[in-house]
Amino acid sequence: MKNCKNVLRYVFGAGAIHDLPELLKTRRQGVCRRAIVFIDHFFRDRDEIPNHFFETQDNIFFVDTTHEPKTTDIDALAGHFRKIPLAEICAVIGIGGGATLDTAKAVANLLTNEGLAEIYQGWDLVKHPAIFKIAVPTLSGTGSETSRTCVMTNVKNGLKLGMNSDHTIFDQLIMDPNLSKTVPREQYFYTGLDTYIHCIESLAGSYRHPVGDAFSHQANALCRQVFLQGDMLSDENREKMMVASYLGGCAIANSFVGLVHPFSAGLGVVLGIHHGVGNCIALNALGEYYPREVEEFRRMMEKQRVDIPRGVCKGLSDKDFASLYESTIIHEKPLSNALGSDFKMILTPEKVRSIFALM
Ligand code: ZN
Repeated sequence: MKNCKNVLRYVFGAGAIHDLPELLKTRRQGVCRRAIVFIDHFFRDRDEIPNHFFETQDNIFFVDTTHEPKTTDIDALAGHFRKIPLAEICAVIGIGGGATLDTAKAVANLLTNEGLAEIYQGWDLVKHPAIFKIAVPTLSGTGSETSRTCVMTNVKNGLKLGMNSDHTIFDQLIMDPNLSKTVPREQYFYTGLDTYIHCIESLAGSYRHPVGDAFSHQANALCRQVFLQGDMLSDENREKMMVASYLGGCAIANSFVGLVHPFSAGLGVVLGIHHGVGNCIALNALGEYYPREVEEFRRMMEKQRVDIPRGVCKGLSDKDFASLYESTIIHEKPLSNALGSDFKMILTPEKVRSIFALM
């Protein structure tokens, strides 16, 4: 069993975002007082994250989350912020959903590690600790706030994979359930389901870990309360969902995903479908492997009156299906976690195509 790491510190509660300036103050010392802040563009010109939280020397960058991060986006940002002397930067902050938090983590890693983002896609390749990193999740489910990865797509080789490293983990977390109040219903559901899916995949895998299992069980107990009882967007359920996402990220930091994420990555790379909704579409087609979970997922959709896009692979060419196969089967660790080391004997190109055809 490896020596596991989780987020070092967290604050939790409605209004917790107001602790940010004070937390930053403790980091600002001498010349080291500049914060680099990544904020989801949704919060531009809104009052949840007021300007007075920051000082004039801070760099604030609004992340366009219309598309999920590519390695080239991360390289461009790292190139820009590498011009600032490292000794001046006291913290890198991500305020947003998974795409924004992942951007903050990836750029922070590249500020202390040379070269392009793509050379760190994989497991334990980041050499030097990143700059002190703070996460403020505004959407719950990806677990990015506690996970040891930051997912990016490398368009050149079709690899959707993060920098899986202890150095990727945030140092400080601020969880404020008020910030997820304005999330659209469908996005809230799809992203929340990411936690549920991480945990069912890790619980069904062969790389089991007693601590990871405990995190997964509790995260999914909360997901069941959120999505099967009452309105998922009530104050109480948004609070529970934020805790579930936190625990789900801790679970996945100590284990691996399974079949759903590789198929979802295929949808992301080839069709540009976002992670959360892609997971839901993929899970719905994987009833052969996760029968009880798919049944439960469909009850959640019904209870919350949310549906998923259907027929997303309709009319695709043989070449498209070949690309879908390639960008799914490349995920060896999760696929062998789910099916064993000879997973390619089970997931033949024909089998993979038949599963995509169900979506
Ligand atoms: Zn995920």
